[in-house]
Order: sequence, then structure tokens, then C-alpha cells
Amino acid sequence: MAFTKKTVRDADVDGKRVLVRVDFNVPLKDGVVTDDTRVRAAIPTITYLKEHNAKVILMSHLGRPDGTGYQEEFSLKSVAAKLAELTGYAVTFVPDTYGQVAADAVAAMQPGDVALLENVRFDKREKKNDPEIAKTLASYGDVFVLDAFGTAHRAQGSVVGPAQFLPAYAGFLLEKEVDTLTSIFADPARPFVAIVGGSKVSSKIGVLDHLIDSADTLIIGGGMAYTFFLARGCTVGTSLQEPDWIERAGEMLKKAEAKGCKVLLPVDNVVADHFGEDATGEVVDSDKIPDDRMGMDVGPKTVANYAEAIRGAKTVFWNGPMGVFEFDQFAKGTEAVARAVAEVKAAGGTSIIGGGDSVAAINKFGLADKMSWISTGGGASMELVEGKALPGVEALLDA
Ligand code: ADP
Ligand code: MG
Repeated sequence: MAFTKKTVRDADVDGKRVLVRVDFNVPLKDGVVTDDTRVRAAIPTITYLKEHNAKVILMSHLGRPDGTGYQEEFSLKSVAAKLAELTGYAVTFVPDTYGQVAADAVAAMQPGDVALLENVRFDKREKKNDPEIAKTLASYGDVFVLDAFGTAHRAQGSVVGPAQFLPAYAGFLLEKEVDTLTSIFADPARPFVAIVGGSKVSSKIGVLDHLIDSADTLIIGGGMAYTFFLARGCTVGTSLQEPDWIERAGEMLKKAEAKGCKVLLPVDNVVADHFGEDATGEVVDSDKIPDDRMGMDVGPKTVANYAEAIRGAKTVFWNGPMGVFEFDQFAKGTEAVARAVAEVKAAGGTSIIGGGDSVAAINKFGLADKMSWISTGGGASMELVEGKALPGVEALLDA
């Protein structure tokens, strides 16, 4: 699907004040950025604007402050330093967002300057999408650019507000994310294999429902698999299960069959006597899960089946780990699937990963650079894959 909104390439930014909403919601430990993925992801847009002679005014949220004013642990100051370090640009940190200090700092900028305002969520009106703060933020710019993909599903002041007052364009990250994640429903190279795991079927039902419309094969793993077992009339011991969702799971299986989407479920599992790092694990077939055991990972026969299906794919979308990968003992299924997915790109196919824990798993196994695209947005990527429109994107100018 072609991106249907105007992008920074369409904007006249020469000498203009360009207000850019980025997603610099990075993990901090003792004031140091521990994962700079999201900062790096915003650099192409920032560089483009700087090179096209714009005054680049960046804004973001970070974490969940109270919304009652400055809180040191949520300050973006160290992120400004990280951006300067990664780009070599002088980045002015402005210790204010909605007040005179911010307005004065913007007024003093020259073309090519880059500044980062303080956390937009230090004022609770941001999350309430208050028109006053949208107006204040818009007064800093001539043009608005949204590049905060990870927040584009939130109709909040700095995400959707400035578009009411300024011509609004997508940044390169936003464009690439939306393009990539919607491409799996448009005209994916086939076979298209979708892999969905994680803990709960209830949180993934929209994702499953939409993926079944497009995928040739749907691989199911993780805790959610056990609710599907119940839908097929099998017992699951003490495995994670959602009784209220058995019927919906059964409907998904029926829909897949009707659509010609092949569903693969685990044929064996690593089960444990309790949920813990020190649990005793053993492999059992899916129809022989003891009453007092819980499924923690997919088993070796399942891994072989899944790897074979994945290796034959031209397009793979993956969301949700295959087991409790946080415990090394139960990480094998997720790792093996990650390794199979990593071969797809090398073989000329496309592998797309979405979801916070799935990305963490891939990073844990050191496979990030072997994937075609790893989404920077957890919730936003899931909403796109569910087929929902993102309010931030909707607010931009149509191409
Ligand atoms: P994502 O963030 O990638 O969308 P989810 O949040 O849906 O993924 O699920 C990730 C979580 O699912 C992990 O914390 C993992 O431990 C858990 N999980 C996976 N398999 C099981 C299982 N068999 N039993 C319980 N929890 C599981
Ligand atoms: Mg998660």
C-alpha cells in the first residue's frame, strides 16, 4: 500500500521553523540512555530538515510523569546529549515546553539549528489533548512534522494538536513504519507466514483476525496456544488459559479454514511444575500435558515444523514470543523461531517484527540486524496490524 499522506519531501522547509514530534521515549538508567534505538530512528528526518535549512524544533514525551511539572527522572536533557553524540550536531536542550523560555529559545534559532524541548507530558493537558497546548506548540512552528510512530496511535496534544493549525507532514520513520506494516495486507510476496505468540489470546484477537485475511500460514505459539488447544477440545493442565476466549479462538480457527489460511499449533511443549526460572522442565506431546504441568515453551518437534514453514516463506510477520523467553530454560523455542526468521532476509525475503517483547527477544539473541524491519512502536504497530487507523497519521495532509 502506498503511503497516502504528504511527507517532509513535499514540505517547503527552507528557513522555516519546523516543529517535529519525535518518539524519544527511551529507557533511562541513572540519567543515561540505555537503548538509543528510537533516537537513531529519528535521525534521517532531523538530518533532512537540517540539510534543507530548517530550524528544527523537536518535542517528545518520556515515560509517565505525574503531569504536575518538572520531574528530573523524566527529563529529556540526557536525550538531547545522546542525539548530539550520535549526529555530531549541536543540539540545544530547552528546559521548558509551554512557557516563555521555550518561546524565546525558538525565536533565537537560526536555519540549521536543532533544539529539543522538555518533556511534553510534564503538563497533564498533553495527554488530554487540550486545545490550548496544541495552540502553544503550533505557535513555535511554520510547519509540523510527525515522526513519532510509537505514539501515533495516541490522540494527544503534541501528536495531533499542531496539525489543526499548521500544514502537517509525515517524517521518514513514520512513513516507513506505516508502509511496511500495511504492506503485509496489500500485496505481500507469497508464501506469507504470520507468527503470533505471547501471553494472551485476548490481547491479540484483532491481530489474528486481520492476519488471517492475508496470511497463507498462521503459526501460533506462546501462552495463547493453550486457549486454542481448549477450543479444539484438548486439556492443557495448569497452562495459561482464558476460558472466556475459547469460543473466539474456535471462531478464528474456523475463519482461517474458510479463508484457506493454514494454522500451525504446537505438537509438543516444554512443560514445567511451576512458573519460575528454577522450574523443572520436560517435553510432552500436546495431547499429553499432565494435569499439574504448565506449558512454558514450544517443544522440539514443533520448532522443526515451524522452522520449515518459515524457511519457505517470502514474507514473514512476527509478533509475540513462543514461550517464556525471559527464563533461559524456556527461551529455546523463541530463539529457534527467531533464527529461522533471520534466514528469510538472507534468502531474499522480507521479515517484519512488531511488539515490545518480540523485539526484546530478538535483541537478546543478537539477531536484530538480520531482520528486514523491526518496528519501533509496540502499541502503534499492533493497532496497524489490527487494521486500525492511527489518529496521528489521520491528522496529516493527504498526498
Ligand atoms: P509482544 O510484546 O511482543 O506483543 P506479548 O506482550 O503478547 O508480546 O507477550 C509476551 C509475554 O508472553 C512474555 O513476557 C512471555 O513470557 C509471555 N509468554 C510466552 N509464552 C508463555 C507461556 N507459555 N506461558 C506464559 N507466558 C508466556
Ligand atoms: Mg508485550
